[in-house]
Amino acid sequence: MRIGILGYGNLGRGVECAIKQNPDMELAAVFTRRAPETVSILTEGAAVCSVDDVEQWKDKIDVMILCGGSATDLPEQTPKYAKLFNVVDSFDTHARIPEHFDNVDAAAKESGHVGIISVGWDPGMFSLNRMYANAILPDGQDYTFWGKGVSQGHSDAIRRVEGVKDGKQYTIPVEAALEAVRNGENPQLTTRQKHTRECFVVLEEGADAAKVEETIKNMPNYFADYDTTVHFISEEELKEKHSGIPHGGFVIRSGKTGWNKENQHVIEYSLKLDSNPEFTSCVIVAYARAAYRLYKEGQTGCKTVFDIAPAYLSAKDGAELRKSLL
Ligand code: NDP
Repeated sequence: MRIGILGYGNLGRGVECAIKQNPDMELAAVFTRRAPETVSILTEGAAVCSVDDVEQWKDKIDVMILCGGSATDLPEQTPKYAKLFNVVDSFDTHARIPEHFDNVDAAAKESGHVGIISVGWDPGMFSLNRMYANAILPDGQDYTFWGKGVSQGHSDAIRRVEGVKDGKQYTIPVEAALEAVRNGENPQLTTRQKHTRECFVVLEEGADAAKVEETIKNMPNYFADYDTTVHFISEEELKEKHSGIPHGGFVIRSGKTGWNKENQHVIEYSLKLDSNPEFTSCVIVAYARAAYRLYKEGQTGCKTVFDIAPAYLSAKDGAELRKSLL
């Protein structure tokens, strides 16, 4: 399978690493909106090209993995490139997924390609586990906890506060809430009871620490509804201790069965990720395999993780899977 990567940020680099671990795939080319000579990649023999030349690669790439940002890149890029290639993206603006699906579906159907959207862990593996658990335990309750991990959006929000030079934000699940859910207590949890937020902030020279802390803690939508802790640290410490992009979380459903609902069941799926983008990329690459297989079967249009049968993700064939993993 010949893979293209469009957009070479964290995810683009992660996809490149993931391809290295999948012998049925090879990286054909990386496409960037920046000057190609300013972008250096790791794979020997793969090309770095301008997105303006992408059309020339129409018959040389089996699946184009779109690694742009969800806010503004993917809503435009995924429908655009689904006209030329089978595509996979990691679109994670949950509220806009229905609209994005329709746009990609129209483009992919018109060109006879497959587009798989919103692949990763949330949306992605978490969605799939929510869906499996709901189908299996219709009488129950869903819980998703995120963290401990770095929230890119909240870190960006801190950095926009006046007096802040740099900053990182961690989302942390509240242990007591997790325990109550795991015990099958089916608690009703407020936003504040589910997660706390911890910020590590480097101040600009002469900035007022108390004012910065107050502004962060009271920021609507981002921090006001949470118990937030703010730590002021040096630039060196931020670099040394907080330069990774870890994440993870838990999807839990508890439900009851039996004629009088006498038995309780808890399903839990959890992730603990050293690198959010590298893990997301591994999921994307498995779905790229599925996209190509579906395309070869003559399918077209937009799909999500809900539409793909699990065996399509694996490099092993059916007989091997039945023997080794069933
Ligand atoms: P980045 O900000 O690292 O990269 C986004 C794009 O920025 C790149 O594709 C790149 O495009 C461009 N870019 C511009 N300048 C630079 C530069 N100097 N260095 C690197 N890139 C540059 O975002 P991520 O890769 O971390 O994440 C992409 C999206 O993935 C996120 O918006 C998020 O929505 C989604 N995501 C989804 C997850 C899920 O579970 N579904 C999990 C994690 C992320 P170009 O090469 O064309 O300039």
